[in-house]
Amino acid sequence: MSIPAPAAFRDLGLIDELLAAIAKQGYERPTPIQSQAIPHVLAARDVLGCAQTGTGKTAAFALPILQRLNATHAHKARAREPHVPRVLVLAPTRELASQIGQSFSDYGAKLHQRTAVIFGGVGQGPQVTALRRGVDIVVATPGRLLDLANQRLLGLGGIEILVLDEADRMLDMGFLPDMRRILALLPRQKQALLFSATMPPEIRHLANQILQKPVEIAVAPVATTAERIEQHLCYAEKKDKQAVLQGLLARPEVQRVLVFTRTKRDANRCAKALVAARIGAEAIHGNKSQGARERALDGFKDGSTRVLVATDIAARGIDVDGITHVINMDIPDVPETYVHRIGRTARAGASGVAYSLCSSEERANLRAVEKLIRMPIPVLGNVPRGVVVNEPAKQAQRGGGRHESQGHGARGRRPHGGGHAGGHGGGHGGGHGGGDRGGHGGGRPAGGRHGGARSSGGRPQQGSAPRPSAPKSTVQHGFSDRGRGGSGPAPIEFGHVGEERGGRHHGGGRR
Ligand code: AMP
Repeated sequence: MSIPAPAAFRDLGLIDELLAAIAKQGYERPTPIQSQAIPHVLAARDVLGCAQTGTGKTAAFALPILQRLNATHAHKARAREPHVPRVLVLAPTRELASQIGQSFSDYGAKLHQRTAVIFGGVGQGPQVTALRRGVDIVVATPGRLLDLANQRLLGLGGIEILVLDEADRMLDMGFLPDMRRILALLPRQKQALLFSATMPPEIRHLANQILQKPVEIAVAPVATTAERIEQHLCYAEKKDKQAVLQGLLARPEVQRVLVFTRTKRDANRCAKALVAARIGAEAIHGNKSQGARERALDGFKDGSTRVLVATDIAARGIDVDGITHVINMDIPDVPETYVHRIGRTARAGASGVAYSLCSSEERANLRAVEKLIRMPIPVLGNVPRGVVVNEPAKQAQRGGGRHESQGHGARGRRPHGGGHAGGHGGGHGGGHGGGDRGGHGGGRPAGGRHGGARSSGGRPQQGSAPRPSAPKSTVQHGFSDRGRGGSGPAPIEFGHVGEERGGRHHGGGRR
């Protein structure tokens, strides 16, 4: 049951250093998950939290964890040598892991904890170096973490607090065996927090095994997110959808847009067509190299890329504020997916707008969605249409002047490189489409065609996986000594090209 949020973070018992970091983030008051979870985590209770991304759950665990670590930091630092991790956060995707790591870094800017983010796919050298120097908090996807632990490069015997974030996603993505192996390496005596957007029986079972007398917290049931979002339905047959998308993008209020497609191939095609129509767009999905994904995300975050076209899995954990619109190119066959998608435009209480394109074959899916959100989605009477350019991007860019979407450039939302819409990524990803997104076990890819993101044995693909650029904000690729600069954020170490496994996925389609 949800209880009203207290008026202030101060009421939750957080220390001044954290309150200052919260103020710097611009958070005015705790979200419901924060007001409910923080006191319990501070009191060293186990927590079972039913909450989606977007509810502020990262701060709900990161803030009290930082405070708990800080309370014993000096004592621990004196007492033990070498410096071993005290907190382990497991997350399903590299993007989510990176964002959680960044949050620890931001919130802990005035404290002394060091964070490392670890995910698989490229050389482990920098991660191992970081671990050797000593970290307090490890945020990781399961495969690489297990690799490092098996090589005895990472000791998990000192973990005091475990967080499983998006546990249902981890199960969906086939991480359960790895998670079990990791759990076996942890001390029995520890505080454990498990967060999941949904609570199917498998998650309850896992929770029973891991958590001891947990406090159960549930916020924002999936359907209520939908109530904050202005939703529109556009009937359009498949062949017309790209034109409708471009018609919607011609609306001046449609500014920072996340477009969802069912498959990677669709994402590539869609982004390519947008680029051809001189609309700054990038595709993001699991076949892209980590570098390409991070560049796409950075461009989207800093506003240089107006449209990010994503598959559902790639979009998980993407935490970008200020998405004005979500556009669904299809009605997902799992109704909850619809709610997750549109929730991207209503982060932490903000409102947003979602358009969903529905073809005649998708009416059954639509009915299921409307049943879930307990309301009909209002139908847009006058569905706008743009001009789809069926030419290679280069020619279309040279042509100029023909497309109604061109006006967006005038608002300064041109993509990278001035007139070169979608300079990397989206427009050039066609070759990656349709491959499976990898299988289970130890970072090994499954069969199927792979794009640059994946390589055999979870190793980097020579020459094809560029080093990722760190998110622009405060991430450092390496460690600086704490306490030197004073005001900067806590250091954070990034792993590189990461793992993101496919596997069982609702709806059965290849995403
Ligand atoms: P999360 O659910 O942790 O992914 O958080 C979703 C978004 O909400 C992130 O952009 C956070 O920075 C933001 N956020 C977290 N807590 C608050 C808060 N108390 N007030 C406003 N925004 C918040």
